[in-house]
Amino acid sequence: MKRFSKEIIAWYLINKRDLPWRNTNDAYLIWLSEIILQQTRVDQGMAYYLKFASNFPTVKHLAKAHSDKVMKLWQGLGYYSRARNLHETSQIIASVYKGKFPDVYEDILSLKGIGEYTAAAIASFAFNKPHAVVDGNVYRVLSRVFGIETPIDSSMGKKEFYQLANELIDKKNPGLFNQAIMELGAIQCKPINPDCSLCPLNAMCVAFAKKRITELPVKEKKTKVRNRFLYYIVVNYKGKTIINKRIGNDIWKNLYDFPLIETAKELSETEFFGSEQWQQFIGETSYTITSVSSIHKHILSHQKIFARFVEINCKSSFSKLVSDTAIIINNKDIQKYAVPRLVDIYLEKRIKEK
Ligand code: SF4
Repeated sequence: MKRFSKEIIAWYLINKRDLPWRNTNDAYLIWLSEIILQQTRVDQGMAYYLKFASNFPTVKHLAKAHSDKVMKLWQGLGYYSRARNLHETSQIIASVYKGKFPDVYEDILSLKGIGEYTAAAIASFAFNKPHAVVDGNVYRVLSRVFGIETPIDSSMGKKEFYQLANELIDKKNPGLFNQAIMELGAIQCKPINPDCSLCPLNAMCVAFAKKRITELPVKEKKTKVRNRFLYYIVVNYKGKTIINKRIGNDIWKNLYDFPLIETAKELSETEFFGSEQWQQFIGETSYTITSVSSIHKHILSHQKIFARFVEINCKSSFSKLVSDTAIIINNKDIQKYAVPRLVDIYLEKRIKEK
């Protein structure tokens, strides 16, 4: 057990990437980086981390910010509940904890948007507390080195891996140990074709010895993916358009997009303009169709989105098309609002074409 920890820490000190959140023990900045890096690659998350850290250098700055600004800065990173939780939790830390990040694991875990993994990361990196982090990289390293076949997405697997990581952790250097095992999983024990000849653990690795690297770790569930068909109505009337704030319990909550018609299946243009949903939306408003875009495909973890952007020019006032959650803005001001990546790509394309 001791050898495992010694080997990975020695390897880490030589091979680690120089990342800005590793040069601090400020729990707020560590928390920020951990939330950004959930579901996001380091190279993509880096710019967001730097943007957030400079706009909101302390938890109090973040707590005071307007939610539209937080969402705008998060735009393009996906999984927007992370940004909403980050903002809400910063307000709790600012008020309940007087701006000081809690240093007790259970208190950290009780905060919204912080699960066991993130709580362990903050407790160990910022406060050097012996709580093991178990993320996808750690699961991979442990299942391969110890030849564990229990599915990592089963409750039994979670318990087993969590227990093992806590037995292996270096009690004197828990933060360093956690960083080391995560980094080893990220840059050495990669999911596909790791170069085991360079690995500090190759002498003790069961998967390497038994040539079982491609079989480990084991997963039992396959994610079910739902197809969705969205038709965005991009209305133009005298240089103005309508945008809608998404407030429902769906993807992209608190972001802005255009008025939307969702259908159960893909429709042809004739079917779409003949549909009841379109008639209900447009009512008596007089219009001409300017263009209908090709399909914009957007893949999320549980949903595949097929979207078209239907551009129309209204001949008379479009006030009847404005719902309770919608606002009228100048066409050019859309860039000021936080929009889903899918809408952003459409807007970028439209600017290039004009
Ligand atoms: S020897 Fe290969 S499979 Fe085993 S931990 Fe190292 S990189 Fe991963």
